[in-house]
Amino acid sequence: MVEFTDEVVEKLNSYRQVKKGQHEAGGILLGRIYDDRITIQQITTPGPGDKSGRYFFERNVKRAQWFVDLAWRSSNGEVIYLGEWHTHPEPVPKPSSVDRKLITNMLRDSKMSINFLFLVIIGTEEKYVAVQFAGNDTSLIKLDQRN
Ligand SMILES: [Zn+2]
Repeated sequence: MVEFTDEVVEKLNSYRQVKKGQHEAGGILLGRIYDDRITIQQITTPGPGDKSGRYFFERNVKRAQWFVDLAWRSSNGEVIYLGEWHTHPEPVPKPSSVDRKLITNMLRDSKMSINFLFLVIIGTEEKYVAVQFAGNDTSLIKLDQRN
């Protein structure tokens, strides 16, 4: 089970691409793993070095890593990188092939203590939340949403 803090939900919703010409936004998800649940409690938001357009968002790798390290250190290793988020200018967002590739690559390349990552896509009306596990032949598994 995965949950988002109210603060994170508010932040994510504030980037919905409701304005004409508004660029995609995105960043990483950070949070804690408890015995019975996972809480996304921090996200990064667009900043220097990120590239974006109406239909793409590419985050700056170094800046994201800096936030991952900071969160990890200041929480004694409890707050960790849990995945990626970005917006889509469509009401009911669906992952693109680029989105699928990003999660697959992150699972393969990053040295993590967990074997899964979340992908969150914020549409203009709904949000898409999915998890993907490491390994061959795995793909995104869409999760039901309550908030
Ligand atoms: Zn996308």
